[in-house]
Amino acid sequence: MLKGGYAGKILEINLTDGDVKKVETENYFDSDLFIGGKGLAAYILWKELKKNVDAFSEENMLVFATGPLTGTLCPGTRMCIATKSPLTGLFCDSYVGGHLGAELKFAGYDAVVVRGKSEKPVYLWICDNDIEICDAKHLWGLDTFRVEDAIREERGDRAIRVACIGPAGEKLVRFAHINTERYRQAGRGGTGAVMGSKNLKALAVRGNGSIPIYDVEEFIGLAKEAHKAVLENETAKARKRWGTARTIIFTSDQNLLPTRNFREATFEGAELLSAEVLEKKFWIKHKACHSCPINCGKLGVVRTGKYTGTVVEGIEYETLALMGANCGISNHEAVAYANMLCDMLGLDTISTGNVIAFAMECFERGILTEEDTEGLKLNFGNEDAMIKLVKKIAKREGIGNLLAEGVKRFSERLNVQSRSFAMHVKGLELPGYDVRASPGMGLAYVTADRGGCHTRAWPISYEISGKAPDGTVIQRYSVEKRALIVKMQQDENTACDTLVACWFLKGAVGKERYVKMLNAATGMKLTVKEFLEVGERIWNLVRMFNIREGLKMEEETLPDRAFKDPIPEGIAAGQKLRREQLETMLEEYYKLRGWDEKGVPSKEKLMQLGLNFVIS
Ligand code: SF4
Repeated sequence: MLKGGYAGKILEINLTDGDVKKVETENYFDSDLFIGGKGLAAYILWKELKKNVDAFSEENMLVFATGPLTGTLCPGTRMCIATKSPLTGLFCDSYVGGHLGAELKFAGYDAVVVRGKSEKPVYLWICDNDIEICDAKHLWGLDTFRVEDAIREERGDRAIRVACIGPAGEKLVRFAHINTERYRQAGRGGTGAVMGSKNLKALAVRGNGSIPIYDVEEFIGLAKEAHKAVLENETAKARKRWGTARTIIFTSDQNLLPTRNFREATFEGAELLSAEVLEKKFWIKHKACHSCPINCGKLGVVRTGKYTGTVVEGIEYETLALMGANCGISNHEAVAYANMLCDMLGLDTISTGNVIAFAMECFERGILTEEDTEGLKLNFGNEDAMIKLVKKIAKREGIGNLLAEGVKRFSERLNVQSRSFAMHVKGLELPGYDVRASPGMGLAYVTADRGGCHTRAWPISYEISGKAPDGTVIQRYSVEKRALIVKMQQDENTACDTLVACWFLKGAVGKERYVKMLNAATGMKLTVKEFLEVGERIWNLVRMFNIREGLKMEEETLPDRAFKDPIPEGIAAGQKLRREQLETMLEEYYKLRGWDEKGVPSKEKLMQLGLNFVIS
């Protein structure tokens, strides 16, 4: 019996027949094996999603999952949203901060599982015991800001938490996101497009309950310690002051910053996009997620010029990198405006920046002409063209219809040559780190379970410090110990994603303290070793899900540009990855994981992890 931490119920909604069920969480899954968040979502999708279902078919599922620490005093816990991705065809888990996860727990639910497809636009109203599937005809077509306002207004409650899609999700743009509290998004992998395919415009949540805690005194003591540790941690302090924006100077200096579609790795305009400039000219307020002392969200306003009145939270590093440097744009006000449009229309800024940069390179090479672009001169640095393209993508208008398919599918519609600089892994557009100056990041991208992603492992800090976790010296551009580092980080991050703990606080809180808080909240008796094993278990379960969906080892590679075009200038000038380097890292990685030479988990490994039910 669950003793605390969990709200106790999981909501199952079938949009096809309107059936609503409340299931006891303890009867739903084995919390000792999967804890919650990503673990819960991976277990449900493995068990219930049929093989090879189209991501837009009504058989696909959307899982909104919290963890046992979500909504408690633990600093910075969030919400996991998982589905089969329309971009990659693989498992996709995307995370969103703010207060949505906590509110769902206060309403009494650990997760919401959405199946089927409504005939007409609807939104879900979840308020304690009151669950309704409501008509959303009046909301269809509205941007995310207006949807949130409209639902709060019609229900007369400003405290309602809304997760919704914009026009991009309705139009099934493959990288459409789910938006909440205006400026927080489950950005990656197209969860918003899946929501659109179900005619589900929004989830609106209000909760008046509380979360049971197994050992209240112990838990409060640990939570206080965790908050203190976060406030004293130097990295967290920097995050509090600068958000993520400060990364851009670091990546530009280190030849890691994607510039002009990853052609270059340092940007002459980086200073203009820096945190110092944003602080001076743009930010007005710090904002935080539930129970977080860091307030890393920076609300900014453009006060002069043609983008006056733009209000947006950020600009986050990934947006500065992909919609700024990667499109050759150094005007932070233009990037802020494009960022706000993406938030309102419902587009992931990483994928949007990538697909526009790719189109710009195609235009400069003559693969796309003004005839194709309806007169847009898509040169790098053309901010007006970038902004027009954002709108066209969201509406699937003209060339925007092709870009809305994502870099992989778009490049497949063009000539073969363009595929060599289509910057994605397994269909997911790459985030803000150039692998030519970080071999470990290359391995992290190709082995990431949702495609090219920086949140599963980030070995860059080890490469730059020159020291592996075991203390041995490593060279910046070598491949030694990368398999070990990437596996270790993936397992640890996956374990933390079962708690849906914020990535930025993991170092400061530390896994030991997370485990103690988990035990005090739930009455579990997990050790740190067992907690990390949960991470490994889920990593292997998702691997099996992806293999069931047809993932092949040949897809575990990088775009040709990573191997063919050396970095033109900067401290890593001349660097590129060699194919044999990637092969060496992969071979070592598969071995460390207990997978065969094709990357398939062995029976022994699956049994050792308690995953007997996935063995066919
Ligand atoms: S560090 Fe930032 S993203 Fe993380 S929980 Fe705190 S405010 Fe939210």
